[in-house]
Amino acid sequence: MPLDPDRTPGDKPDVGERDDGPLVIDDLDRYSRLRLISWWRQERLQSARVLVVGAGALGNEVLKNLALVGLGTVLVIDLDVVEPSNLSRSVLFRSDDGGRSKAEVAARRTSELNPEIAVLPIHGDVITDVGLGVFADVDLVIGCLDNREARLWVNRQCWKVGTPWIDAGIQEIQGVVKVFVPPDSACYECAMTERDYQLLNLRYSCPLLRREDIAAGKVPTAPTIASMMAALQVQEALKVLHGLPVAAGSAMVYNGVGNQFYTTKLPRRDDCLSHETYPEPTALALSNRSTVADLFAAVRDRVDGRLELALDRELVVSLECPSCGWLAEIMRPRVKVRAAEAVCPICREPARPEFTSAVAESSPMADMPLGRVGIPPYDIVRVDGSSGSVFVLLADDRAEAIGPAANSDAAARPGAAGGDRDRAEGSGR
Ligand SMILES: [Zn+2]
Ligand SMILES: [Zn+2]
Repeated sequence: MPLDPDRTPGDKPDVGERDDGPLVIDDLDRYSRLRLISWWRQERLQSARVLVVGAGALGNEVLKNLALVGLGTVLVIDLDVVEPSNLSRSVLFRSDDGGRSKAEVAARRTSELNPEIAVLPIHGDVITDVGLGVFADVDLVIGCLDNREARLWVNRQCWKVGTPWIDAGIQEIQGVVKVFVPPDSACYECAMTERDYQLLNLRYSCPLLRREDIAAGKVPTAPTIASMMAALQVQEALKVLHGLPVAAGSAMVYNGVGNQFYTTKLPRRDDCLSHETYPEPTALALSNRSTVADLFAAVRDRVDGRLELALDRELVVSLECPSCGWLAEIMRPRVKVRAAEAVCPICREPARPEFTSAVAESSPMADMPLGRVGIPPYDIVRVDGSSGSVFVLLADDRAEAIGPAANSDAAARPGAAGGDRDRAEGSGR
């Protein structure tokens, strides 16, 4: 702080002054004490958009802190409903919330804590129900997850679109927080071990259909460690949003038994499968209700040859019984098909799944809406042709995917929907 030569010492409290001039402390301003922090920019937080993945013990605490600091737009996704066992670790839930969507309850209570922010709940699965456009539009993602599969997915999505993400894991009274900043830092997958991959595959039985979750969410945790690690996540988020240095690609580890806290750098692996980064997508006036053929028609002048839509979420097309020939159409992403479903209802033999990870122009599936082949709203999809690939943002889904606030700043954000609309064609609405 520069010294004012005309100032008499003791004239004013130091906290009331900053480099950019005197600061009036307004007790009617909800954020007046936060504004006193030397680097704090409330306007930056008000204009920020954050995706919180998971509304369990960590997610509750993260949301509480985001509300307190006035983080402008918060999206929260969770698949589960509130159960009595959540009440010991979830400050936003009440006993009569049982059976209601965690994301919806948490969003409502977060809005009550701070009515000045927008909180948008998504009751769904982060793998199958959140388009890549959402990951591209948020400033950062805070992972409040309890399984490797979802963390790995979030990691890959964030890398594709260059969005930083902050992961946390807790057990009993120990915890770890990791900050990842694409494209250069080590990522979540860089630090995965053989054992992690084995545990990841345990969730799937042969032939790769999801088994009923064995232990997800059943890890013993105290509410105290959830508060501590969530607070650390939000504190790192504040630093990222303010452009302050963070320990990207490092793990902050806390052991509550002996109160050891240390930071360790994660190794970056050059052959890591997560390091794919997409080019800036072309925003077109399409939605996931448009058909695959609509999409092909819209990109025809941008890529040559026979077109093929890549499916990031491998699709189970059908199940067939090899013994009696029973055949059922499934059309759901692999992660949404339980192993228990893959049993022939006639002869009780295991049924064989047919997978696909692409839709060609000649396929009967080209007449289907994109949602039917597992593409969520506001996704960024890749169409391959003989001359290369084109990446398309399904821009018509934007308001649905990220809320009414989406419309006010669509034109202002680089890469967001709007820029390419004049040339767009083939709306599927
Ligand atoms: Zn990596
Ligand atoms: Zn059969």
